[in-house]
Amino acid sequence: MAYDEDIERAGALADKAIQRLHAEQLPPNPENFTLWYAHYSGHFPDLSRAIEMAQRDGGRLTQLLCDELYKRFFTLDAESQAIRETSERARASLAKIMEMLDSVGTETNRYGTALAGLQGELDQPLGMEDLRAVVAAIAAETSAIIDRQSRLQTQLLDSSQQLAEMRVSLDTARREAMTDGLTGIANRKAFDHTMVEAMQTAQQEGLPLCLLLIDIDRFKLFNDTHGHLVGDHVLRLVARALTECIKGRDTAARYGGEEFAIVLPQTSLRNAVKVAEQVRTTVGSRQIVNRSRSVNYGTVTLSIGAAEYRPGEPLPELVRRADSALYRAKNTGRNQVCAEG
Ligand code: GH3
Ligand code: MG
Ligand code: MG
Repeated sequence: MAYDEDIERAGALADKAIQRLHAEQLPPNPENFTLWYAHYSGHFPDLSRAIEMAQRDGGRLTQLLCDELYKRFFTLDAESQAIRETSERARASLAKIMEMLDSVGTETNRYGTALAGLQGELDQPLGMEDLRAVVAAIAAETSAIIDRQSRLQTQLLDSSQQLAEMRVSLDTARREAMTDGLTGIANRKAFDHTMVEAMQTAQQEGLPLCLLLIDIDRFKLFNDTHGHLVGDHVLRLVARALTECIKGRDTAARYGGEEFAIVLPQTSLRNAVKVAEQVRTTVGSRQIVNRSRSVNYGTVTLSIGAAEYRPGEPLPELVRRADSALYRAKNTGRNQVCAEG
């Protein structure tokens, strides 16, 4: 559920996207439209950053760049790509192992037949030389099969190492797909996953669940004053502070551009507000500095909206209530926490 705008906002975003495509002289085809709608929706901060970076260096937003961005953000995500690649490699590995086992079966049968023949010879009275020849033949057959077996063992070991590597790369891709590139905390996709699970658990176990929506105050002004790079630094600082203020089962996520969310399972609204206050004061008291250049950019403040899950309601409903609490925090002075209702 990447998009949850109501008709009015979705219409406004679509208009903006189309106008931008005209301005950039790009054809308003579905791919280009997707790119710009997604950008304006604010749900794809990494895409927005990539666009801003491309413009900052005086670059034109060419169709080539759009194609590249579309491929990066809207075709296969890293996770699906890794799954596809890995399942192909796993299939190849498996085929190789089957082939090896098959050849072992054939070789073992051959060995058995050879031994049976030699046993037949032993049943007859043999002279010294003949006996020596039979023993030598058994030894040769045996050492040949040992040799093949040990080659098989090496090959199997090799395959199992490859499989282990595949597992690691799948885990890594999964982690990356769930992580925000700039701040290193959970991204919007991970937030959605976490919320859906948390809502299920809360409903099943009859325990409270709260959501905090957090927005940096006057961040546009901060960016305009100090530049985007310092702004990015602030986003990382806020993400770190969020992580410090939560414990075990809680999740902090980057919800959109300069908006964050905290999922608080087994937490009442009252306690959620306490966590929110903790987050607000922690961030508000932290000086934003560039040590290497000895510059102090002052501080930023946060507005936070808190809402409690009502068993059975859909996620957008809970988000809407947290968002309207946040809206109230903004409208009544910023740098404060408001709870729903
Ligand atoms: P308010 O107090 O009402 O929230 O004001 P605001 O300026 O924070 O809100 P507004 O929505 O007007 O602006 C949000 C700004 O956040 C715009 C954009 O410059 C900034 N922003 C969004 N994503 C990023 C990002 O990834 N990096 C940086 N540096 N800035 C970002
Ligand atoms: Mg905002
Ligand atoms: Mg803001």
